[in-house]
Amino acid sequence: MINTNPDLVVVGAGVIGTAIAYEMQKRGRKVTLVDREAPGRGASFGNMASIAVTEFMPASRPSVWRQMPGWLMDPEGPIRVRPGYLPKLVPWFFRFLLASRPAKLRELEAQGAALCERALGDTQRLMHELGIADHMTEQGCLSLYTDEAEFRADRDHIEILERFGFAHEVLDGWALRELEPEITKKIGKAVLFPENRSLRDPYAYVCRLVEAFQGLGGRVIRANVQGFERAGHLQSIRLQDGQTLDAQQVVLCAGAFTARLAATLGEPIPLETERGYHTQIMAPGLSLRHSIIWPARAFMVTPTAGGIRVGGTVEMAGLDAPPDYRRAQVTVKRAKEALPNLRVEQATEWMGHRPAFPDTVPLLSPSGKVPGIFYATGHGHLGLTYAATTARLMGQLISGETPDIDLRPYHIDRFAWGGHAEGSVMAGPVERY
Ligand SMILES: Cc1cc2nc3c(=O)[nH]c(=O)nc-3n(C[C@H](O)[C@H](O)[C@H](O)COP(=O)(O)OP(=O)(O)OC[C@H]3O[C@@H](n4cnc5c(N)ncnc54)[C@H](O)[C@@H]3O)c2cc1C
Repeated sequence: MINTNPDLVVVGAGVIGTAIAYEMQKRGRKVTLVDREAPGRGASFGNMASIAVTEFMPASRPSVWRQMPGWLMDPEGPIRVRPGYLPKLVPWFFRFLLASRPAKLRELEAQGAALCERALGDTQRLMHELGIADHMTEQGCLSLYTDEAEFRADRDHIEILERFGFAHEVLDGWALRELEPEITKKIGKAVLFPENRSLRDPYAYVCRLVEAFQGLGGRVIRANVQGFERAGHLQSIRLQDGQTLDAQQVVLCAGAFTARLAATLGEPIPLETERGYHTQIMAPGLSLRHSIIWPARAFMVTPTAGGIRVGGTVEMAGLDAPPDYRRAQVTVKRAKEALPNLRVEQATEWMGHRPAFPDTVPLLSPSGKVPGIFYATGHGHLGLTYAATTARLMGQLISGETPDIDLRPYHIDRFAWGGHAEGSVMAGPVERY
């Protein structure tokens, strides 16, 4: 047994796990953070660095459905399902379908907005506390449209933002090029989202969280978590090397891999990986101040990590398939349409797993089966955006305080057709999962 005597173990040192570990250590708990890799090397390493408070819309909304057939038929389209993976996706896709009912969409929008309304302020506060306030840019994000027709096709997105009061400013082509002269003259219209900021380096954010956590006495262990032992309540975590780690409470933040851990607890969750790609270009031959997205071409460009990062795309192919870097090359091709002077020199490609639920809403919840276990996962395209808010809410939940927002919509019960029987685990001999 590893003798650290933690009273709380956080599994997964991505941006979600490190933010929670730091929050709980700050609250006086004795926290151990466990990851099989060095901290921050999962999805949190290579995301698009955007505090994307204007992107909380459910993926199952009508405008996505309208474009889906065309996207799926196009080998260079923004969504790709590897044919061999299709049968495994059916149950997830069925839930995705249920999440597209109009009344459900309204609920999901409100649930995303409730997090995004807090996300920028919470991230700013946390970064200030960590001494890295200057790691967030002042500039917002520009959404590009070739013409009126493209703008109208994205209208539902803008309408949702208006409904929830998120700031935005419509620009014509001239005003756009005043802000970003490198953008092609083919773009006739744009929307500036001033609150959609980006970080100078999302990986550096995670590293700083780990450093601050350790500075408060938190412990980081490198180990692969295999399962759990309990006798009624949780007793310990089982590691791959056969050792165990005592734990009174555990928070599962293993990103897209959390479903595997939940399965060992007999508590399946419909978590998929939406694989995404980036190309980090260190000699792009141009500079940008804002991040840009072009909804009709489905890519994003962010000035970050000392260069320019081009990324996006969704590939449904599971956790184990090797990367297909042609996906990254497609987004670069699209980015060159927007930025004709972009050069791809000193470039590296990367693939990461977005942890995604079919309803686009994260899981911030106690386990429905095993007292002492909590989940914080499924942040999908917005894990970086939601990390500071998630840490705050999970801190309140785990500490038995009333959370700032009603956490019922983010509860694990939403996945059980009949609802979980909470606290139904009976005391008994030690069980292995
Ligand atoms: C291309 C791309 C662009 C993105 N852009 C943005 C963006 O601009 N803004 C935004 O907000 N979000 C963005 N995201 C999403 C964001 O990156 C994720 O939502 C977020 O990083 C998830 O964080 P996490 O901590 O849950 O998971 P991860 O960062 O993946 O961390 C999970 C950790 O768990 C560990 N782990 C897994 N299983 C085990 C085990 N059994 N034992 C021990 N350790 C384990 C892993 O090693 C990993 O370190 C993007 C994602 C991608 C792929």
